[in-house]
Formats: sequence, C-alpha cells, structure tokens
Amino acid sequence: MLPVLVVHGGAGQIPKERVDLSTAGVRAAVRGGYTILQDGGSAMDAVVEAVTLLENNPDFNAGRGSVLNAKGEVEMDAIVMDGGALASGAVSAVRDVANPVQLARLVMERTSHTCLTANGAMQFARAMGVPEVLPESLVTDYARTLWENTLDPDDCHAGKMGTVGAVAVDAEGNVACATSTGGTRNKMEGRVGDTACIGGGAYADNKVGGVSSTGDGEAIMKVTLARLIVIYMEQGHSAERASNMGLAYMKERVGGLGGVVTVDPEGNWAARFSSPQMSWAAAQRNRIYYGLYEEERFTQSIDNLR
Ligand code: ASP
Repeated sequence: MLPVLVVHGGAGQIPKERVDLSTAGVRAAVRGGYTILQDGGSAMDAVVEAVTLLENNPDFNAGRGSVLNAKGEVEMDAIVMDGGALASGAVSAVRDVANPVQLARLVMERTSHTCLTANGAMQFARAMGVPEVLPESLVTDYARTLWENTLDPDDCHAGKMGTVGAVAVDAEGNVACATSTGGTRNKMEGRVGDTACIGGGAYADNKVGGVSSTGDGEAIMKVTLARLIVIYMEQGHSAERASNMGLAYMKERVGGLGGVVTVDPEGNWAARFSSPQMSWAAAQRNRIYYGLYEEERFTQSIDNLR
C-alpha cells in the first residue's frame, strides 16, 4: 500500500465558478508531494511540499489568497506534526511570510517549543533567514472583495473556506501531517483557530495514523477533532470509519461542520467531510484520486497529469 499522500483544499461551499480552480489545485499539489515519496523522500518532506504548493496557489485560503481579518489584514496559522517522535511545530497569527508551513517546521526542528505566535514568530523567522514579504503581496483581489462585501463578523464562517492540509505515509511507514490557513473571514484581530493547535488542526502518530482537519475551527478545537479521530483508530476503527465518527461527533455535540484527510500507517486513507464540499486529492501506486462532493471519487493515472 505504501507510500501515500492525501491533501485537502478546505471544507465549505465553493462558489461554482471556483470549483475547477480548486480541484486543479489539489491535484497539482498531490502530484508535487507524491514525487517526493516516489523518490524515497520522507512523509514530512512530502506534506510540507504539498502544503507549500497550496499556500503559493492564490485560489486557497492559505499563504497568498488568505482571507482577511476584521481590519482587512492577513493573519495566518500553520502546523506540522511528525508521527515518529510525536514532534510538532506551529505558528499562529503570522503576517509577513509566504509559507507559514515552512516556518512551523522550523519551530519543530529548531526550537524547544511547539508554537510561536505573531511578533515572536516573525522575530524567529528573521533569525532563521526566512524572507519577509510585503503584507499586500499575500492579498488577492478575491479576498479583498469578499472582505468588502461581508463585514458582518457573524458571517465569518460562510462562503469561501479553502484551508489546506496534507497527510502522508512514506515507504518506511512514517506518518506526517501539515495544515495551513488564513483562518476565518472577518475574524477578530489576534484570533487563533484550530489549525495551530496540536490535536485540532492536525495529529500524527506512527503507531496509529495521521489527520489534517479543516472547517469550523472553534468547533474543531472543542472536540480536538484530529486527536479524536486518531483515538477512534486506536480503538480499532478504520481510517474512514474513524473520520466519519469524529465528524459526526463534532456535528452532534457542538454543531460544527468540517472535513479531514486521514491515513493509517499501512497506507489506508480517507477523505471525509460533513460540509457540503471539500476539495481533496490522494496519490498512491501511481494513481491520483480526487473529488469535491460527497461520495465523489474520480481516478486517473499520475502520468496523465505530467
Ligand atoms: N479551520 C480553519 C479555521 O478555523 C478554517 C477552515 O478550515 O476553513 O481557522
């Protein structure tokens, strides 16, 4: 079964005219990350590459393309987790970096902490030689229009979501995951969502599996969705069943909708969601699988994408 990479481009409701951009983006990202696994690279390298590609793609709510907070500014959260050592790194409310997922990885690898926030995270980025980008370079016309048209803070969960994430198992059975987001539209300045929280936006354990989540961040945090799904897997449920159980629990208990991509250490995988849509793509054994609506699962040979 090994290796495998599964990515998502966010749970929510994608406007019709943006559906093709979203499905093309996740397929390109899964192909980019899977090449690393095919060449014998690590699960961590593969998820960071896939999420970097999605952050660089302005059609997703992460990196360039992030939604704007109540002040009309970009503030991003990102996380990585390595299932071997249960090591994790995250950044929250960062503004002037193109690829928060790479900064999260540096937090994991180069500090003794698991999360750095706002100015402290930016100071660390400078110390690590991460180039600073102009805040405007992350703002797309689409994000600006959404912000201008929806200034009601209660409306922050509606419409475009587009958070990005990935889970992978490499040829050695290592599990890794990564998630990155601009958060929720019109959020209060300083709001930190589930994405930066270990067990919420992501969780990975080589002994059980890995999850990257998306959706209503406050609900995800209340049920620690990624960790909850890993616990269900620990209890013997498959990646798919555990994902369905976690999402159903979140909906019943706190009324939250969302989606996940999940793997187990053997390479079994799932892409499940309770929101109307979630763009996702998986790559395994030289094939790509992808979908957007419930029960949709297209497949094609990876060579046809090159
Ligand atoms: N979970 C993200 C957040 O609340 C948003 C999303 O996944 O669309 O920040």
